[in-house]
Amino acid sequence: MRKNIVAGNWKMNTTLQDAQALVSEIVHMVQDEAASSPAEVVICPPFPLLPVVGRLLPEGGKLHLGAQNCHQKESGAFTGEVSAKLLASIGTEYVILGHSERRQYFREDDELLSQKLKAALGAGLKPIFCVGESLETREADETFKFIEKQLKDGLFHLSNEEFAQVVIAYEPIWAIGTGKTATSQQAQEVHAFIREQVARAYDAEQAQNTTILYGGSANAQNARELFSQPDVDGGLIGGASLKSRDFTEIIKSF
Ligand code: PGA
Repeated sequence: MRKNIVAGNWKMNTTLQDAQALVSEIVHMVQDEAASSPAEVVICPPFPLLPVVGRLLPEGGKLHLGAQNCHQKESGAFTGEVSAKLLASIGTEYVILGHSERRQYFREDDELLSQKLKAALGAGLKPIFCVGESLETREADETFKFIEKQLKDGLFHLSNEEFAQVVIAYEPIWAIGTGKTATSQQAQEVHAFIREQVARAYDAEQAQNTTILYGGSANAQNARELFSQPDVDGGLIGGASLKSRDFTEIIKSF
């Protein structure tokens, strides 16, 4: 079902102490100030911090736990990797897959991401599947073609039931961590396009029910404008999710 979601992607930041302080502040502020926000909030810390952060989130509340990655196999001899099943067993609900940093630095391609999606869904996790073009692609006027291929190759092999569990995040690479956010019009244009592709691959109802987040230098100043667009259902927030005040402001921006 279509929801408003604000997800914080902490990436490779924070220590145990930072994480405890940050989550305590967010929990406190969200209870106090954002009680009226319709948004579900997902916190995605580094792997070792998941149980610690999970314990600090009030049960049955609007804060949920997410991971930043998972392995494609259920278990086995894969030194240093983490399975979706383990993530689910410690209370993780969401998992970010296909982030451009994973695609770029860890060479994750559509074939591998397809397997990761299956593994995540098999373990009962809800994938937050990222797509987004580079500056080069945008300047060559190939954004739509590029996103269409990412969706087709990475995502649209899923069955209706599987796809219903997926959240899509549009993250233009040129906007990630650069302070250069997409305009609300640019975001809306791509989000509407993504919804159209979902309608084609599945049906109109599925498209209406799909949650599509924007990510890329979203912050407390621009979130309201971005979230006011009809096809922008929330945000995947990097830098600003590490500051409790800014993150809470974003949660309230609906
Ligand atoms: P940013 O990162 O908000 O720091 O640009 C977003 C993301 O990579 O998910």
